[in-house]
Amino acid sequence: MGKGTSEDGTRGDSSDGESKRSSDDDRDIHVQAGEPTDVDTTERDDVDSVADSTATGSGATDSEAADTDTTPTPDSAAERSKSAPQSGGSPPETKGSEDRSPATDELGEVDGFSGDVDLEDLDLDPDADDSVEADGASRGLFDDLLEGEPIFENKEVLRPSYTPHKLPHREEQINNMATILVTALRGETPSNILIYGKTGTGKTASAKFVSEELETTSQKYEVPCEVQYINCEVTDTQYRVLAQLANKFIDKNERYIEDRLEELGDLRDRAAEDPADLGDTDFDSVAAVENEIMTLESDLEAFDPVPMTGWPTDRVYSTFFDAVDYHERVVVIMLDEIDKLVEKSGDDTLYNLSRMNSELDNSRVSIMGISNDLKFTDFLDPRVKSSLGEEEIVFPPYDATQLRDILQHRAEIAFKSATLSDDVIPLCAAFAAQEHGDARRALDLLRTAGELAERDRTETVEEAHVRKAQEKIELDRVVEVVRTLPTQSKLVLYATILLEKNGVHNINTGEVFNIYKRLCQEIEADVLTQRRVTDLISELDMLGIVNAIVVSKGRYGRTKEINLSVPLDETEAVLLSDSRVGEVEDAQPFVQARFDN
Ligand code: ADP
Ligand code: MG
Repeated sequence: MGKGTSEDGTRGDSSDGESKRSSDDDRDIHVQAGEPTDVDTTERDDVDSVADSTATGSGATDSEAADTDTTPTPDSAAERSKSAPQSGGSPPETKGSEDRSPATDELGEVDGFSGDVDLEDLDLDPDADDSVEADGASRGLFDDLLEGEPIFENKEVLRPSYTPHKLPHREEQINNMATILVTALRGETPSNILIYGKTGTGKTASAKFVSEELETTSQKYEVPCEVQYINCEVTDTQYRVLAQLANKFIDKNERYIEDRLEELGDLRDRAAEDPADLGDTDFDSVAAVENEIMTLESDLEAFDPVPMTGWPTDRVYSTFFDAVDYHERVVVIMLDEIDKLVEKSGDDTLYNLSRMNSELDNSRVSIMGISNDLKFTDFLDPRVKSSLGEEEIVFPPYDATQLRDILQHRAEIAFKSATLSDDVIPLCAAFAAQEHGDARRALDLLRTAGELAERDRTETVEEAHVRKAQEKIELDRVVEVVRTLPTQSKLVLYATILLEKNGVHNINTGEVFNIYKRLCQEIEADVLTQRRVTDLISELDMLGIVNAIVVSKGRYGRTKEINLSVPLDETEAVLLSDSRVGEVEDAQPFVQARFDN
């Protein structure tokens, strides 16, 4: 099979995670509006941040555990149960006893539960007695937390996993996609489509929306047309992409055969009684029906799912190929984050997929690639490039007004009425518009602002919550970027921090280099040349961690003036949490010594 055979797909380490993800992906497409979104519907889209991708790479389900801010950690829950009765027994939102969850009753009754939180001791407050009466039992650990959702009506709606059924300001792109894909409903092959746009411009949401519509319509008209979604940030090698596709189609074929067997079984029984029932079918005898049943049953037996690792790539490819070609249909393969696949594993997958049609007998394949990187086709084989880019659709960034509309729609479902003060949405929109018009950022801001308000136990979300949310998200981003820097960059950054801590501003490269050298010696790391360090500083600049400007020193040439653009203490803490950098013990004296010189 030509180009593709080089890869052996020996990444066995996370095969479990991968197979779990595969089934998640499948379900993900079918999330409906208003459907309660649980663990399954948490998404890969979120995987924009390195944080998420590492979390998912571990093979654990991405259950957004990190997001459950309101989930009590043992500590906070204990604290809460201590403080609640003290603060007057029943909080204002206490509900009647019929609202209490059975679980809380049980908790209240557990003997000896009071280990370090003695609930009886805490009932000293006279007001607390009222609540005990009203509730018919003392309040359990979780009462407050259970009731504490005064702001959100349905927070899931603000998560990236939610596929909205209205996508304002994407009508044009959605129409373009539909116009191209409608061919599939006529049983012909749609042109391949390449979708471009920065993160958060609604590419994934629009593509999923269109694919759901396409599948629904194809069922309505009984046209065999299927869409397969693959997130290439998660499924990032040719082996994995082909294996996942093969297994999905094998699944579909099995369901197809089972349905068909049921029909044929029926037909056989009816025809056995009255052969006239064969009249308008392709069969001229009961025996012919039975023959077909046997063929299908043996086909069913013969399907051999691809293991997540270990087969030669050409075997994976041919299994996939046969599965697709098993019966007549048009298949649209959506490769989201296709740039990540090419970056990681080259364009073999795309090459193989894009030339399939000439060899398929029964089915037709059309590819829809989605890329965040506008220039990714530069790295493609020209044949792949021209085949993939038959049609191109660009998703421009949203402006602040458009982001407002988007937030408005979602907020109506997500928040209880009258919980958002007037400036909240415009401010979220404005912040996100600065962030290259990223709708994901806008929604994150709105959700985080709501969570902060909830934590403050206020009844409305205010402008201040949005500002705090902006800081929190920005800090989370910085922490993540810094945490995942290579050790050498961390040392360069740490050198800069040490200088700033000692009151040096407009630091020059030489100063950074000297401290960096000392740090390297301290932890026995290789010392890079000053030129390499200068490059690392430029990279830190591009990541927005430092601000480095070139200044002219007249006849002494030019130098860089470097200033930290991130919060010093938090960044230092992240750096020191690195096992390697953390080895630097008491860097202060030698930095100081340098100034004393
Ligand atoms: P991309 O794939 O371009 O990075 P997404 O499609 O994942 O962006 O969109 C990011 C978030 O913003 C998602 O939660 C999505 O539902 C939401 N979103 C994007 N565009 C719109 C829109 N026009 N209307 C409503 N929500 C949108
Ligand atoms: Mg996306």
